[in-house]
Amino acid sequence: MSDVRTRNESAWLLPNDGTRTNHALRQDMRCFADGDELDLLVVGCGAGGSVLLQRLARAGWKVAALEAGPFWDPDTDWVSDEAGSHHLYWTQPRVISGSDPVPLGSNNSGRGVGGSMVHYAGYTPRFHPSDFRILTQDGVGADWPIDYDDLRSYYQEIEEELPVAGEKWPWGDPHSYPYRPHPVGGNGELFLRGADKLGITAKVGPVAIVNGRFGNRPHCIYRGFCLQGCKVNAKASPLITHIPDALAHGAEVRPDCMVTRVEVDERTGRATGVHYVRDGVPRFQKARMVAIAGYSIETPRLLLNSASKRFPDGLCNDFDQVGRYLMVQGAPQTAGRFDAEVRMYKSPPPEVSCEDFYETDPAKPYQRGFSIQTVSPLPITWAEHVAAQGHWGAALREYMSDYVHWSCLGALCEFLPQAGNRVTLAEETDRHGLPVANFSYSQCENDTNLMKAAQSVMEDILHAAGADEVITIDRYAHLVGGARMAADERHGVVDAGCRTFAVPNLYITDGSVLPTQGSANPALTIMAVTARAADRLIGAAGCVST
Ligand SMILES: Cc1cc2nc3c(=O)[nH]c(=O)nc-3n(C[C@H](O)[C@H](O)[C@H](O)COP(=O)(O)OP(=O)(O)OC[C@H]3O[C@@H](n4cnc5c(N)ncnc54)[C@H](O)[C@@H]3O)c2cc1C
Ligand code: SF4
Repeated sequence: MSDVRTRNESAWLLPNDGTRTNHALRQDMRCFADGDELDLLVVGCGAGGSVLLQRLARAGWKVAALEAGPFWDPDTDWVSDEAGSHHLYWTQPRVISGSDPVPLGSNNSGRGVGGSMVHYAGYTPRFHPSDFRILTQDGVGADWPIDYDDLRSYYQEIEEELPVAGEKWPWGDPHSYPYRPHPVGGNGELFLRGADKLGITAKVGPVAIVNGRFGNRPHCIYRGFCLQGCKVNAKASPLITHIPDALAHGAEVRPDCMVTRVEVDERTGRATGVHYVRDGVPRFQKARMVAIAGYSIETPRLLLNSASKRFPDGLCNDFDQVGRYLMVQGAPQTAGRFDAEVRMYKSPPPEVSCEDFYETDPAKPYQRGFSIQTVSPLPITWAEHVAAQGHWGAALREYMSDYVHWSCLGALCEFLPQAGNRVTLAEETDRHGLPVANFSYSQCENDTNLMKAAQSVMEDILHAAGADEVITIDRYAHLVGGARMAADERHGVVDAGCRTFAVPNLYITDGSVLPTQGSANPALTIMAVTARAADRLIGAAGCVST
């Protein structure tokens, strides 16, 4: 922990005068011309893209990130208000299909510097060692070309940089966190009480929310607006955890730039840069290497939209792997009513988790498992929960006025990777004339069984805590996969170091490279995988331009 500042100074580069943005750092940012050949250009400035940018800038590389959304300023752009936060989501058109189509938008993707982590909840669990070997161990899904041990030190690094607070973690590879657990509110207390009565282990954390002061980032004030972009700067997102340090080390972040195509030289087979649109004007940025980090939907879409004579079915798609094995976690949500007031809005939604049901249980009719966490929806999301149960009109009004009496838990079920769950290009085009993504999703029987099992455990916990009524809805959360990491090009798009098999100077460093998802929230693993890829890139390059 002691050397975190020497590795990443972001928290100390934020202002300590009550404002949240270091404007001087942005104004003095190094700016490259389109014709400058960058050492590496990153597409997308979210969880994966920002970590890569910061690591390479620190190593002296000439790097820039082109980001489709704005360079957020928490002081002026964010409000502690559910209805006023819709601009944080990626709401451009996308087509959904399959037998269980997944609605896309607020619950699964973001835009702007910081990416989806700007409005993610803040849970940062590690994957379990078993997640890297589920085909060998459980006969389902796929094995990763790396092991948990390959990521352990990167998990530790990122946990210190965010930083993460939580109790000593007994599951997976047992470990502790750099910061002590936060105190819990009413929802967390009920989860702990119900779990205890049933002999289920539940623990406080792990959350990337400052518990104490960290650099110039203040303590959490427990107002519960984590999913609206924390105005306090207490919740981690790359906008405050990695971008300031990247800028201080000479990286450029170019916001409002939509990348439309990766250019590959037909003769050499190497990427030469990217086409992008800024202020309606098409442009081209030269680069010696390119890394795509646009999220599980936009990364496959960009590859497919970068088809050429050499790659007629889409860039890196010779073996029809691009867009496939896209996963979403089944995320049923169960609410319980208590006579006493719970006031679940009075704390961060991420508080308490349980991973007792994470691993395959041979006694159960399904493989793999689920985790359970507090979710604490604010009023609009609470209305969506109640309406999804079929309540409307007077009944909906009654549930809404009873809001302070409700507690809410959510599960994350490990849906399995399936080749048919994929992104392809739709007929429909966006405002740049580019085909939008068509995301097709169908659950398998294992997925459906996991959802039912998770629902039943959550209902038991809330009943054990004293709830007199429980209501459950089905939802989805978190998308990963779509350009997965594999041992060879017949089974995936990138190798263990996130380098594409087809184009030697093209990398993918976001959630799309994950071959499985466990029942853990993915952001920490995306950052750890990227930090490892960055180390390998830096090690392999030897020297770079300055
Ligand atoms: C409501 C919500 C709650 C969540 N809660 C949690 C949680 O508690 N814990 C957790 O671990 N995860 C959570 N997540 C998921 C987590 O935020 C994502 O898994 C993670 O941010 C994905 O990282 P990424 O690098 O793949 O993509 P992102 O972080 O989404 O970054 C992609 C970036 O690329 C940009 N981009 C896309 N296409 C282009 C293009 N063509 N040109 C230029 N830029 C482009 C986008 O604008 C975006 O900024 C949550 C997500 C949401 C939406
Ligand atoms: S509860 Fe804490 S982390 Fe969440 S938005 Fe408020 S200050 Fe930020």
